Parts: sequence; C-alpha cells; structure tokens
Amino acid sequence: QGTLFLVPTPIGNLEDITFRAVNMLKAVDLIASEDTRNTQKLLNHFKVETPQTSFHEHNSKERTPQLIEKIKAGQSIAQVSDAGMPSISDPGVDLVRAAVDAGITVVPLPGPNAALTALIASGLSPQPFYFLGFLPRKKKDLTAELEELNKRKETLVFYESPHRVKQVVETMQAVYGSERKIVLAREVTKRFEEFIRGTMEEVCEWLSNENIRGEFVIIVEGNEHAETLEDKVWESWTLKEHVSFV
Ligand code: SAM
Repeated sequence: QGTLFLVPTPIGNLEDITFRAVNMLKAVDLIASEDTRNTQKLLNHFKVETPQTSFHEHNSKERTPQLIEKIKAGQSIAQVSDAGMPSISDPGVDLVRAAVDAGITVVPLPGPNAALTALIASGLSPQPFYFLGFLPRKKKDLTAELEELNKRKETLVFYESPHRVKQVVETMQAVYGSERKIVLAREVTKRFEEFIRGTMEEVCEWLSNENIRGEFVIIVEGNEHAETLEDKVWESWTLKEHVSFV
C-alpha cells in the first residue's frame, strides 16, 4: 500500500518551499491539487513532472474514495492546496480522515502557513491563540460569532478576503470597542508585505483611507477580562465550599 503525503506550498514567495517538499512532489506517483493549473506553475518552476489530479471542495466526495483506492493499490499521493498548508481553511481533511479510517499512513510535511507566519510578527501574544479561519459572511452571523469569541482570552486569528476586510474590522470595533489591539498582516512573504498594527480605531481609520488590495490575516488581541473555564470551575467550587460551611 502507498502513503498519503500532505505537502505545504508557498503562500507567496516561491523560495519558501522546502527541499523535502520539492523532492516529495517529484517522488510520488500522483499529486492531488486544489487547482491543477495553479499548481502546474509551481511544478514547472521546480521541474516536477509528476501527473496531477484535481481535488477540491466540489469534487472531494467522489474523489476521496478513488484516491484511497489508488493508495491501497500501491500508489503514493501528495495532496496540495493552492497555497500554504493543506486542510487549513483549504481542502484536505476529508481525504485525511478517509486515509486514517482505511489504515493508510499519512505523512505531513511542515511548511508555509499564513496564520502562523503572520502571528509571529504581529507583536500580539502567540500563546495561547485561537485560529478560526474565515468568519461567517452574513452580518448577523458575523456579529454573533464575534460576540461568542469575546468570551476568549486567546489571541484571535482570522483569514479574510480584501473586499470584506473593512466591513469585518468595523464590526470588530463595534463588538470589541475602539481600544482593543488589532494587526492586519497583508501580503505576507510577498513584495508588498506590510503589517498594520494599532487599536481598532486606528486600523479602521487606515482601512477607510486605503485602497484595499492583497491577502490579509487579521490578528486580534484576546479579551483579557474574559473568564476561562478554569475560572468558572474555581468559582463554582468555592461557591459550593462556601455554602457547605454556612
Ligand atoms: N491553507 C492556507 C494556509 O495554510 O495559510 C490558507 C488558505 S485560505 C483559502 C486563503 C487565505 O489565507 C487568504 O484569504 C488570506 O486570508 C490568507 N493568506 C494566504 N496567503 C496569504 C499571504 N501571503 N498574506 C496574508 N494572508 C494570506
């Protein structure tokens, strides 16, 4: 039986692919790509001649059993997404689950990821952090999700598209107040990489003056006043103790 390799690809700068990733892409029998045309550019650049098949959110249900059969028959497959880590706000998880269920060896390679790369340069606390990926699109759901996240102490990390980032940050300001710290990590690893750091109010002002383009990771300071689960357990425990001593 073959192996399923999970291979991260650059999030902007082609030099960020690892030697191991390139060698793995050359060595496997097949590459399952989110977008074969996009990945072909990467393969051409690194002179990888391995054939590709498409594996994306719209065909993952039919493709998963087919790929599992191929691996069982002895082929090794590398799964890649358009950029960064497979499965992180990208296709992959269905295939990984099916491989695990089928007793297939799953080998992850380390590599580029937008959230972690942005987080380490944000200046906000990287520990603990909470990664959500994309927020809900509808305004009502967005507000509800942000309110729910306000119960957390962790630094919050989101992905967002350029045409929604302004609306999302304005909603964050409404829910979290003007003073909460926020960082926009734009075009990380690319030519126009930029970090916009400030309070909600300052970053909203920046957004209203800018022609917003590029890819963004949004990083928000956690709610330092939020109660953690441990706080609540402690509270209920001390309350019980108190009652029993009365
Ligand atoms: N799997 C990818 C990863 O590991 O980071 C994420 C894929 S997700 C579909 C794409 C989103 O990631 C973008 O909308 C943006 O929020 C973020 N992103 C990807 N590349 C980025 C970059 N170079 N700079 C800033 N954000 C980026």
